[in-house]
Amino acid sequence: MVILKGAEVSAKIKEEAEKALEGLGGAVPKLAIVRVGERPDDLAYERGAKKKLESFGLGVKVYAFPAEISHQEFKEAFERINQSKEVTGILLLKPLPKEIDEKEIGCLMDPAKDMDGISPTNIAKVFAGDDTGYAPCTAEAVIEVLKANQIPMAGKRAVVVGRSMIVGKPLSMLLLKENATVTVCHTKTADLKETCRNAQILVAAAGRAKMVNQEYVGKDAVVIDVGINVDEDGKLCGDVDFASISGSAAMATPVPGGVGAVTTAVLAKHLIRAYKASLG
Ligand code: NDP
Repeated sequence: MVILKGAEVSAKIKEEAEKALEGLGGAVPKLAIVRVGERPDDLAYERGAKKKLESFGLGVKVYAFPAEISHQEFKEAFERINQSKEVTGILLLKPLPKEIDEKEIGCLMDPAKDMDGISPTNIAKVFAGDDTGYAPCTAEAVIEVLKANQIPMAGKRAVVVGRSMIVGKPLSMLLLKENATVTVCHTKTADLKETCRNAQILVAAAGRAKMVNQEYVGKDAVVIDVGINVDEDGKLCGDVDFASISGSAAMATPVPGGVGAVTTAVLAKHLIRAYKASLG
């Protein structure tokens, strides 16, 4: 089984980003990371994103708010960030505390600054197959992994396990745009194992540690693991039982070191594109 490493895909994206940055005359596009509270996974993602963007020569400013902030206070602060000329793009770390109406904040987000595809305009563009918007970075990262490894999608049976608005649904639309024949699975899917076994490209985005084992994987399938979980020993793991599928899958992404590394590279790519677009 060939291991599809995220670092190699990320390096290719970085090469293209460096070329794009050369034309900007030393300008440094800036990402605002907006965080409410101190959830450990938010802090981990924030650190990873900051490190990756800075390695691309991009700027990052973190706007952190206390977990107890009211909806109104957060909304006003968010509006200021949204309107700031200093800010090229915004990454809003979710989920937000229950007090804050996440949907309303998503609707307020300037689509031109929405780097992770949460505003209604960008969601609509993904579903319309219009690539002038910004898709959620993780969904796009899966496509980048497939393209960078020359894995054909057109005409292939692609199965996505998970239907969230941040991964499963947008990814299904991106795969469809690449002319894959897409099946989306979820907790009510009756014949999950059989459906997955029939996939030529299987994407696991369920958030269930090591759920996808050899019973889910057909011969020579390409398996992309989006999951980020903690196993019974407290170690980071994906949705795929990597050791178990090695006899049947042709290729697979590891966790860590797979899709996650590409997600932040896509974020950097989006930021450079947003900066260029802001120049008109
Ligand atoms: P959600 O919890 O929002 O969605 C999970 C989806 O998986 C749901 O649609 C759910 O179905 C489905 N699902 C859950 N359990 C099963 C099951 N046993 N069988 C079939 N379907 C199932 O998660 P996210 O989409 O936000 O994230 C998914 C995973 O990806 C998580 O591990 C998360 O940490 C990771 N992630 C990784 C990123 C990266 O950069 N690599 C970025 C974002 C997320 P239903 O709708 O019926 O409930």
